[in-house]
Amino acid sequence: MRPLYLDHAATTPLDPEVRAAMLSWLGERFGNPSSVHGHGRQARAAVDEARDRVAAAAGCAAREVTFTSGGTEADNLAVRGVLERWGPERGRHLVVSAVEHEAVLATAEALAGAGLAELTVVGCDRSGRVDPAEVAAAVRPDTVLVCVMLANNEVGTVEDVASIAGAARARNPRALVHTDAVQGLGRLPLGLDVLGVDLISLSAHKAHGPQGVGALVARHGVFPAAQLTGGGQERGRRSGTENVAGIAGFGVAAELAERRREADVAMLVKLAGRLTNLLTPIPGVEPTGDLTRRLPGLCSFVVAGCRSDLLLAVLDELGVCASAGSACSSGAPVPSHVLAAMGFGELAGCALRLALGRSTTEEDVDAAAARVERAVTRIRLAGRAGAAAAG
Ligand code: PLP
Repeated sequence: MRPLYLDHAATTPLDPEVRAAMLSWLGERFGNPSSVHGHGRQARAAVDEARDRVAAAAGCAAREVTFTSGGTEADNLAVRGVLERWGPERGRHLVVSAVEHEAVLATAEALAGAGLAELTVVGCDRSGRVDPAEVAAAVRPDTVLVCVMLANNEVGTVEDVASIAGAARARNPRALVHTDAVQGLGRLPLGLDVLGVDLISLSAHKAHGPQGVGALVARHGVFPAAQLTGGGQERGRRSGTENVAGIAGFGVAAELAERRREADVAMLVKLAGRLTNLLTPIPGVEPTGDLTRRLPGLCSFVVAGCRSDLLLAVLDELGVCASAGSACSSGAPVPSHVLAAMGFGELAGCALRLALGRSTTEEDVDAAAARVERAVTRIRLAGRAGAAAAG
């Protein structure tokens, strides 16, 4: 059976052009960008070139890009760093949405738990949309940071970040606004001004770049306090010798993502629509997330009577790489906090996410739909047989 990789929201395969750009830095070329000699200067030039490319894709100036070890670090730097840098002057109140990735949510909760911040978590509606008016209502004179992600990694809902930022600022012009746009690169228009935000988190591996590299974009003048101190790399914002191969790969991936965005989106929207249409007639299958404002290529459902861990195991046997929503490091079944916030109750443990990518074809979609139907039937039959045996 042909394997079908439908987990592109977890990670994407490395683009061959990205790989080529990285390989030279894993072979004949090497150097520490901080060294003054030729090897160092070459490495510095590679990092600078990548910074220009990421800035062009992210809609900001090169000096506003700080490379990190990925989206998680970018989110941590935004939340912890803004609080540390601006908290004493502006206040220690954080506003975050209930659908944020754990990199934001757990960080904000940890800071609040340690007594370093006050936290307001703003809910969402059943489609995962965060209401700008609710965010504005949560903003106080001492709010230092508002975090609302651009596109949700579990259910694909695209938030109206520009309206949210505008509403938050109308209440408190000094509050900074951060958006986690990790899922947006190559899928949605990005930019500090396009989105009306001060900080944007990015990650290379969601856009055919390497794992372990990302960036925090921060509007000139608002940069958060460094969370890694040491040698003063990245203009003192993030110490540590740069991951030159990774950064070079990220640069190429970002450029390709932006160049191919329109074509990729057109294809992904079409295929995702097809898959959703094929799966929704199955009894008990309900699409989740906002079907109108949606991350291209991300299809998400709840499947009544099928626990996510079972469904994913059967799909794996049938050659389908899928996910319940977020890629959980422990592999243990934890009901989705996003679906819980959306009001799905028990069904939050029955999530299925199929995230299409650049190489997905119509045949893949049709085969995936057939295999999902088989998996669901198999689990429900086993459940009934188990219940009959027990009864
Ligand atoms: N934010 C979102 C929305 C994500 O989907 C992810 C990845 O799962 C992250 C942050 C974390 O990014 P990284 O894997 O680069 O640490």
